Amino acid sequence: MKYQRSSALFQEAQKVIPGGVNSPVRAFKSVGGDPIFVEKAKGAYIYDVDGNKLIDYINSWGPMILGHAHEPVVNAVIEKSKRGTSFGMPTEIETDIAALAVSMVPNIDKIRFVNSGTEACMSAVRLARGFTGKDKIIKFAGCYHGHSDSFLIQAGSGAITFGAPNSPGVTKGTAKDTLLATYNNLANVEEVIAANKNEIACIILEPVAGNMGCIPPAAGFLEGLRKLCDANDILLIFDEVMTGFRLAAGGAQELFGVKADIVTFGKVIGGGLPVGAFAAREEIMNYLAPIGPVYQAGTLSGNPLAMAAGLAMLKELNENREVFNSINKKTEYLHKGLETALKTENVKFTINRVGSMISVHFSEVPVTDFASAAQASNENFKKFFHGLLNEGIYIAPSAFETWFICDALSYEDLDATIAACQKVAKKLN
Ligand code: PLP
Repeated sequence: MKYQRSSALFQEAQKVIPGGVNSPVRAFKSVGGDPIFVEKAKGAYIYDVDGNKLIDYINSWGPMILGHAHEPVVNAVIEKSKRGTSFGMPTEIETDIAALAVSMVPNIDKIRFVNSGTEACMSAVRLARGFTGKDKIIKFAGCYHGHSDSFLIQAGSGAITFGAPNSPGVTKGTAKDTLLATYNNLANVEEVIAANKNEIACIILEPVAGNMGCIPPAAGFLEGLRKLCDANDILLIFDEVMTGFRLAAGGAQELFGVKADIVTFGKVIGGGLPVGAFAAREEIMNYLAPIGPVYQAGTLSGNPLAMAAGLAMLKELNENREVFNSINKKTEYLHKGLETALKTENVKFTINRVGSMISVHFSEVPVTDFASAAQASNENFKKFFHGLLNEGIYIAPSAFETWFICDALSYEDLDATIAACQKVAKKLN
């Protein structure tokens, strides 16, 4: 495949945008080469500016669960935009989407909409601190909760891809309030709590980690965290920016049957427009301004176009819950196919999957936390990434990301992907 126009556009972009991109992982820095510029996308495919058609396993990093340019979502945005694009005043559609989200997700009474997953997590932590009157938070090494200061401490995703899990610009004062723990290690969390008795406002985690590749919670891990939180007056925050409206209509809380105190959303909830949200039981949510003392706001929060896209998306998922089975089955099919292909070629690998989140780690060690994820071979990942790209398959340009499966993918697409993986695997060590 040829990518001349993408490369030319990248050169131009770098003159006026730092690194040529508006979010670092898009720059292909950890895999090498120039990023691909998109012309358009439809269903399971990206069409780039050089005329290449790629099967897309990123799906805008998760939101496009039903595929790109999904008609009900696109039409809802077009119709809404004719009536104005932003008012900074209440609109009925905000209540419509809030009511629907609250009806789909367990253990939440109220929800507030923001503009990104970062904002959702940052606001959730402020709310937890305000509600409990405590300052410290526990986060897990390798989990990513957006780029607000408190979370750029051993952060996963793009941050670790660029070797900057701890970013300059985060003050020591802020960093000292973020306590680190090891994912899937309850004993370690207990130790951290014991060393900071009565100082911890919340534990925030991805209930299925997706930012160090996909890492499932070990049996009992989420339940154990719930117990520790109850015993120590700590709020449990599930960051469901990736898992929300993907693993089940009610997200990870529904899938694992574990109750969180605050839940954050992004990605799918906006149908591809910039939306985040955080939600909790009434007692906690009423701690927010204008009822309560914790301030949180946004000029474009509840934007009508974003709400229209999100509502169209959630309505469809709510009315057709079979979608969750369908994407899970497709992902399972892919999982089995990849496993057979990589085994046949004698590659050292581990595949992790939960529902429609899957990742291939080039390591035989079980990948259960950040340290084990970091042991995988990045050299093999780079070859795998570029080999697949050459075959018209687009996966995330980082070994620390999850593949997101959308329902627009056909079994023929999956077969083509498995065949391409086998071909590429022949060149791996
Ligand atoms: N939380 C999780 C689990 C994420 O995966 C992400 C982004 O990938 C975020 C939060 C931040 O969301 P956003 O990029 O919309 O700010």
